[in-house]
Amino acid sequence: MIHNFNAGPSILPKEVFEKASEAVLNFENSGLSILEIGHRTTRFQAVVEEATNLVKELLQLNNEQEVLFLHGGASTQFYQIPLNLLNGTDTAAYTETGTWSVKAIKEAKIFGNVIIAGSSKESNYTSIPKKINLTEKTNYLHITTNETIAGTQWKNIPYDCGVPLIADMSSDIFSRVLDFSKFDLIYAGAQKNMGAAGVNLVVINKNILGKVKRTIPTILDYRNQIAEKSMMNTPPVFAIYVVLLTLRWLKKQGGVATIEKINNTKAELLYKTLDSLPIFTGVAAKEDRSTMNAVFTISDPILENEFLKICNEENIVGIKGHRSVGGFRASMYNALPLESVQFLSELMCQFAEKA
Ligand SMILES: *Cc1c(COP(=O)(O)O)cnc(C)c1O
Repeated sequence: MIHNFNAGPSILPKEVFEKASEAVLNFENSGLSILEIGHRTTRFQAVVEEATNLVKELLQLNNEQEVLFLHGGASTQFYQIPLNLLNGTDTAAYTETGTWSVKAIKEAKIFGNVIIAGSSKESNYTSIPKKINLTEKTNYLHITTNETIAGTQWKNIPYDCGVPLIADMSSDIFSRVLDFSKFDLIYAGAQKNMGAAGVNLVVINKNILGKVKRTIPTILDYRNQIAEKSMMNTPPVFAIYVVLLTLRWLKKQGGVATIEKINNTKAELLYKTLDSLPIFTGVAAKEDRSTMNAVFTISDPILENEFLKICNEENIVGIKGHRSVGGFRASMYNALPLESVQFLSELMCQFAEKA
């Protein structure tokens, strides 16, 4: 058995891989591959419709929230959001919590003014700001609910900040229960917790649109995508199908509340192990630790290499830390079985004993 702790693209349920590969050969007994059918066929329309309805059901969205499946990954949303929501003279508020929010801020500055409503830069992004500072009038507040590289996660969402709330949920979407109906825009690249790379989920409250003066390129205007149900051009057909399969699997598990319990069990086990072994050091502040990405180090570089080598030998994959942080990162997305976390924890204990 391979224990896949990859940060993204990452592990998906085995049955998703099986059904996806069946569909490549013969999609729903049509005799055709999913790769060769038209995106406007009844069969594929049914895929988009079911995926949309599952997103609405699993996230318990309200009637004003539209579900889109778009190209370009989460990084495209970094600019598509301010392009649609921020006039050149307007201001948007961003929280600065790590690599991903910094990238979002950089793009927003192209389109308008940005104020930093909370930052953990001084702690080298090992924590989440506890206070939001919204002194100026702003068009929206942007947060990154889970910083995949720093291994931090917002536990208290600033729901009632008084301005539209926008969240990059690329690495913790569908992992825990939040009041998703209170977000005006949610976006997530599929490849962490929701499917294959190539598609982006965008949930948007349609009432926040239509307020900027600039001309928006047709395909980047959310209003057009809503009107055309994400079908302005050929959507990433196969990636959307993999999202559907993953959401069906999630529903069968019992939905977001059930998977959250399992995710908490996995994260508690890993962090408990980490805290009990002095040789390992957790990087994120304890109260802000991500249930999805656990980041840790070993102070001695020789031992660090040795542990990495042992992980490789034991079929633990994807545990090497991000190049900007070093050390290790264990990503524990929805599809990672508890068994894999137990295996890693035991290996850490054995390693600490011998070191
Ligand atoms: C991976 C990731 C992104 C970038 O996603 P792409 O689909 O590669 O553009 C953005 N934000 C967060 C939080 C991520 O984890």
